[in-house]
Amino acid sequence: MGEALRNPRLQGFGTTIFAEMSALANRTGAVNLGQGFPDTDGPREVAEIAARCVLDGPNQYPPLPGQPDLRLAVAEHQQRFRGLAWDPDTEVLITAGATEAIAASMLALCDHGDEVVVFEPTYDSYMASIAMAGAVAKPVLLAAPDHALDVDAFRSAITDRTRVILLNTPHNPTGKVFTADELAVIADEAIEHDLIVVADEVYEHMVFDHPHVSIAGFDGMRDRTISIGSAGKSFSFTGWKVGWLTAAAPLRSAVMTAKQFLTFVNAGPLQPAVAAGLRLSDAYFTGLRDDLLAKRDRLERGLTDAGLDCLRCEGTYFLTVDIRSWATEHDLPVSSIEFCLALPERAGVVAVPSEVFYATAEAGRHLARFAFCKQDAVLDDAIARIQAV
Ligand code: PMP
Ligand code: GLN
Repeated sequence: MGEALRNPRLQGFGTTIFAEMSALANRTGAVNLGQGFPDTDGPREVAEIAARCVLDGPNQYPPLPGQPDLRLAVAEHQQRFRGLAWDPDTEVLITAGATEAIAASMLALCDHGDEVVVFEPTYDSYMASIAMAGAVAKPVLLAAPDHALDVDAFRSAITDRTRVILLNTPHNPTGKVFTADELAVIADEAIEHDLIVVADEVYEHMVFDHPHVSIAGFDGMRDRTISIGSAGKSFSFTGWKVGWLTAAAPLRSAVMTAKQFLTFVNAGPLQPAVAAGLRLSDAYFTGLRDDLLAKRDRLERGLTDAGLDCLRCEGTYFLTVDIRSWATEHDLPVSSIEFCLALPERAGVVAVPSEVFYATAEAGRHLARFAFCKQDAVLDDAIARIQAV
């Protein structure tokens, strides 16, 4: 709807798939393994600080870059987990979720016609943010089933119009975690072609099989990388929409110029709570990971037992399934959008069609994404429903 009213850059961007699939789950009463949000809130002590701050303040505009103590907590967290030192006064910016950090980065850095190399499938806001900036996306396919970086395809996507590489690791929707070797290739190209890397690391604490590595830590990358995190993911408060980025002072300043005219500032009373979250013990962060790892295994086992073909998931909230053989066997459509529209009726479960995350839809037409950031009983219910088909 409203297609005719939208400016040419936004043609084709309808309602996000997450809103659509959650609405479908609500309409049909299906178990919602579509939109990626946890169904258990984050740490009580963090929520209590937020509640106290709403009652007692601070409730007015925080400073433009974010409250100083939250910026300090972001810097401490980066030092603790990544071994990277950032100046909280000049190299940290608090944003309205990672979404704003990504959009503000594109708006700040890209001129009309500049090119942004992205790895498809892409998280849904990427293509829209690039388009809103008037830039041009150059997708590089991470091909299923292993989603390995095709180094030649990546290198040939870079032209003299390339300005930014927009990287997401751990990667939504595939669950891929870029290896250190792959990141080294990306870093080398960024340096050789003088590019900026925007590294969306919102799932940094949800890595299962090998460690998460920040590309900002590679030689020569510190001053050309914007690293992005999210309290939604790290503390399971997705509705708070508090995010942060770290970047060298000139880069942060550029992004802040755009950010100040999008939201100016956000979430004043939540910022002290997020600072406390970032200072939680290592045990909190390993607990978050271990909990999700057990959920990944639970869903993977259940879907595999039901005969579904699960791809490897190394991180994030998401398990990707190759639907072809199961769909054929059960007389369901083998095209992921039609499959996901039919699944609530047939099985009482909602998943997200991975096809929508691909520039070349064909490459994802046989894939569906199931979120496992849900209570065990909810996962078991979904599994039982699918096994009963
Ligand atoms: N990047 C990725 C890869 C995501 O999956 C999400 C969804 N949480 C976001 C960015 C947006 O994060 P936020 O809710 O903090 O805006
Ligand atoms: N990041 C979540 C997902 O991928 C949802 C974010 C949203 O609803 N915009 O499902």
